[in-house]
Amino acid sequence: MSTLDRMYSMGHEEVVFFQDKSCGLKAIIAIHDTTLGPALGGTRMWPYASEDEALVDVLRLSRGMTYKAAVSGLNLGGGKAVIIGDPKKNKSEALFRSFGRFVESLNGRYITAEDVNTSVDDIEHIFTETNYVTGVAQQYGGSGNPAPYTALGVFRGIEASAAKAFGNRSLNGKTIAIQGVGAVGFELSKLLSTAGASITYTDINEKNIMRMKESFPSAKFVGESEIFSAACDVYSPCALGASINDETIPLLKCKIVAGAANNQLKEDRHGQILRDKNIIYAPDYLINAGGLMNVSIEFEGWADSKSRRMIDTIYDKTIDVFHISEEQGIPVNKAADVMAENRINSIRGIKNSYLGKVHHRMPGQKRRF
Ligand code: NAD
Repeated sequence: MSTLDRMYSMGHEEVVFFQDKSCGLKAIIAIHDTTLGPALGGTRMWPYASEDEALVDVLRLSRGMTYKAAVSGLNLGGGKAVIIGDPKKNKSEALFRSFGRFVESLNGRYITAEDVNTSVDDIEHIFTETNYVTGVAQQYGGSGNPAPYTALGVFRGIEASAAKAFGNRSLNGKTIAIQGVGAVGFELSKLLSTAGASITYTDINEKNIMRMKESFPSAKFVGESEIFSAACDVYSPCALGASINDETIPLLKCKIVAGAANNQLKEDRHGQILRDKNIIYAPDYLINAGGLMNVSIEFEGWADSKSRRMIDTIYDKTIDVFHISEEQGIPVNKAADVMAENRINSIRGIKNSYLGKVHHRMPGQKRRF
């Protein structure tokens, strides 16, 4: 399929390829939809085997960001960038500054952030060249590490799921099985522990396991494959995608699946299978949107309390998605898509009917978030 055909079938507005021989930069930025606002999404660095593989990834990830921003009620569109390269060998100040200049050349239609294999240091180099970057360190007026905010959103999503499953949002006395106690899983453990929940967890990283043992001595460690069948109220995938699949669903003993990982359902049909088994699923891209909400307010002046208030709304939004799922008789993952699409379509309608009247900005005038 040609690039334009791919863009057409997935609804992308713009895909830009960049290269800079002087520092070995090869990058693609995909802007999926800017109906709600400028396209925001992180920059991923990955040793893609081919340009095609990189393109497929950036198209898929940028579309995901459109849905995440829309369902979260943000005035942002969806975008993403990929840098083709080995993060262990090819990173340099020159490369990220060059990338920053390319981001700048898009004039604010795309705003970047951290993602897989890009760090706060890399963001700092990008920030040298462009203001269209979020996730900047707190000492530079940014919002810093997103993990505590992502974890707060996941916690609110778990509470909303508990309200539906048990008639009460309290997690006191409930058992949560966490797959992956990295940046988000560890922060989530803090919140759960304060709320009086019991924690069962697994990981494959010795350092992260040790950190859990030291911080939460009463939490129970289980092996990598035992986490799925652990006796618990909530299974919380906070490691990798696709952990809900044909092999793992029959093992689950939980009433709720709610975690931070992206793309938890291996295939869409697994949402329906969970529904058939009366397991409540909190849509991943809604409840893990705390990090995105947190960076979205950087441009208006980031403040911890503002960010937390915004993230608290994930509770009500998750309840709203459950209602749509019930009313329309569709699985929760589909209901989240419906909520996102309804919002985009309602604004698209307004824009089309007023085209040329309210949305012409002066050159250089910044778009409001
Ligand atoms: P992380 O890399 O810090 O933590 C992931 C943890 O999972 C690591 O400790 C790793 O060892 C563990 N892990 C990997 N494979 C495993 C396996 N097979 N079994 C058990 N544990 C395994 O990542 P993170 O920032 O905590 O993010 C966790 C997930 O949440 C990722 O899927 C990420 O895409 C998603 N997410 C993160 C954020 C954020 O703000 N960091 C925002 C949205 C979504």
